[in-house]
Amino acid sequence: MNTLLHMQGLTKEYGIEKAVNNVTFSLLKNTATALIGPNGAGKTTTLSMLAGLLKQTNGTIVMDGEITGDIRKEIGFLPQYPQFYSWLTALEFTEMAAKLSGVDPKMAKLEAEKTLEFVGLGDAKKKKTGTFSGGMRQRLGLAQAIVHKPLLLLLDEPVSALDPLGRREIMNLLKELQASTTILYSTHILNDAEEMTDQLLFLRKGKLVEQGSMREVREKYANPMYKIYFSNSNEAAQFVETSPWPAMQEGPIAFIHLEDAKPMMQEVLQVLANCNLSLSKVERASASLEEIFLQVVNKDE
Ligand code: ATP
Repeated sequence: MNTLLHMQGLTKEYGIEKAVNNVTFSLLKNTATALIGPNGAGKTTTLSMLAGLLKQTNGTIVMDGEITGDIRKEIGFLPQYPQFYSWLTALEFTEMAAKLSGVDPKMAKLEAEKTLEFVGLGDAKKKKTGTFSGGMRQRLGLAQAIVHKPLLLLLDEPVSALDPLGRREIMNLLKELQASTTILYSTHILNDAEEMTDQLLFLRKGKLVEQGSMREVREKYANPMYKIYFSNSNEAAQFVETSPWPAMQEGPIAFIHLEDAKPMMQEVLQVLANCNLSLSKVERASASLEEIFLQVVNKDE
């Protein structure tokens, strides 16, 4: 069977609030899935239930039937704010994590060394974790989550605290890991999911509001349009008033959405040539990933 995990109707209630509300999805083996949503959407709560740190109020989590024994040993978890013992070196900490996760104690040091090398901390393995920068802490957090070669890797906002270079490096590591594990990670930035993610799950107020591949989501929400850049807002407003096609305005830019009307670029240019307004650019564009995120998480319930 190709499914590693299926969760059905998962719900977590805190008093009258449902932090996670009847969420159902599956993770296929060796795929990467992003849990996407704004602050408070229920991402951490979902991951914590999967990691066995929180008990769900309702619903079931079923792992692949071939997995027997202690399921926690098959899971690696990187919390949003990983904590380390500041007086231990990276190697000592990772070796300890390996032993706690069931690695043969005789092999733990070797596995820890290999893992630190993999996450780019080979040169820093003898440094105390208390001296680590944010990026190094995130790498060490990843190392302790993967040192026992888990089947399922759960990562809570693995790149949120990193600069663009650090983000790219961690995402590349995750791409490599995908060959040997199944990854579920949370983020509130859709761009982070662009390269390596097979499945996107959008959460809002605890509910799963959209799911699909990046291509499917883009096709559904990309909203092709013409963007016409005028020299000021008044000119854009004047165009919107007289446009033969439904148009909208945001500051000095006018938009013609191509679901509403489908003029050819040539027709648009013809109308613009006759309207005597000063403009700097006309382009055919699609909603950016940031705009798609906002559309999905704000769409009507
Ligand atoms: P962020 O991006 O800010 O980390 P998130 O998507 O991970 O947000 P959660 O931390 O899962 O969201 O929280 C979901 C909702 O559940 C929030 O409204 C939060 O206030 C609530 N919540 C989480 N933990 C508890 C708790 N222990 N007691 C009460 N409410 C909680």
